[in-house]
Amino acid sequence: MSIANKLARAELVDMIPYQSARRLQAGNGSFNSKIWLNANEASGPGIYQVNSDCINRYPDFQPDNLLNAYSAYCNLEKSQILATRGADEGIELLIRTFCKAYQDNILICPPTYGMYAISAENHGAGITKVPLIDCQLDLAGLKEHVGKVKVVFLCSPGNPTGNLLAEDQIKSAIEMFADSAIVVVDEAYIEFSPEKSAVAWLDQYPNLVVLRTLSKAFALAGLRCGFTLANNDIITMLSKVIAPYPVPAPIAEIASSVLSEDGLAQMRIRVQETTILRQQLITWLSEQTWCSKVYSSDANFVLFACKDKDEIFNILAEQGILIRDQSKQLQLNSCLRISIGSEREIAILKQTLTNALTDITSPVAEK
Ligand SMILES: *Cc1c(COP(=O)(O)O)cnc(C)c1O
Repeated sequence: MSIANKLARAELVDMIPYQSARRLQAGNGSFNSKIWLNANEASGPGIYQVNSDCINRYPDFQPDNLLNAYSAYCNLEKSQILATRGADEGIELLIRTFCKAYQDNILICPPTYGMYAISAENHGAGITKVPLIDCQLDLAGLKEHVGKVKVVFLCSPGNPTGNLLAEDQIKSAIEMFADSAIVVVDEAYIEFSPEKSAVAWLDQYPNLVVLRTLSKAFALAGLRCGFTLANNDIITMLSKVIAPYPVPAPIAEIASSVLSEDGLAQMRIRVQETTILRQQLITWLSEQTWCSKVYSSDANFVLFACKDKDEIFNILAEQGILIRDQSKQLQLNSCLRISIGSEREIAILKQTLTNALTDITSPVAEK
């Protein structure tokens, strides 16, 4: 037995880490040789410059330029914002702050984002599951766990489901847990329907936390920058747990520039273009005989079920087009997810499937 295996917390020995799209494809070709539609990233590079004048100094705990910019964007006080290394760090902080290891539980509503469970496992928090029903909350199911969980993770728009949760149901969940749990609304994709954000409810609900990221609509997944939004007493508590210099100065600088007026305008154009491509892809998928169900989407990806998901996945993979297999998620056993890349990338994906799957003797192909 290795020294690591002998000394580590026993539950980590067989634990499988988060199978990110990047990890699953590690070593499998460079960015340029493949079409990456598996991690809900935006397509196309941004052009940014950083000033290295003060790089010999530690950054501020929460860089002022960044907090000012995000505060203006989300309409909250700086005291209600914590900048983190991606929204993923916010998830981890919430669990470490509110769950006592080997005692407290989080609640998740699968199918949902995988990092809630991974972070809980890493910390030794228990995981209670109340599955979605038709991609919406099961309020009666949630009610049974009031008083038995510390942090409830809701994802709206959901990943990998794609749809927004009904506003009145999110509110009911927050109210139900008002005295006993933090209710986290993960808004990683909220830029695709900004009017549906729960941020405006923070004044009303002291147990509400909203998670945000620059990784999706802002096209900065490589930057690792996210935000936890909540009332000041929660932010103060999380600030005791987070690392002392969580946001590197160059990251704060780039992030601030995408949150400028120009940067926001570009983001909104990207969102519009993505939404058009997404609707076209949904229409196309629903016309394909091999596709048995297309889920509605309020985000930058489309989830669909197929008669033979391995065949579809492999046809694309052989041509260097990477999408995400979601079949291991509860209720999604024949489902795949396509991130909306560029117009060209989506066109290549459609053409590849059409070439491989259209029976050339059929009358449809002769049109
Ligand atoms: C991508 C994603 C995140 C993580 O965002 P990062 O800021 O890149 O850590 C969090 N939640 C959901 C639902 C996501 O899809």
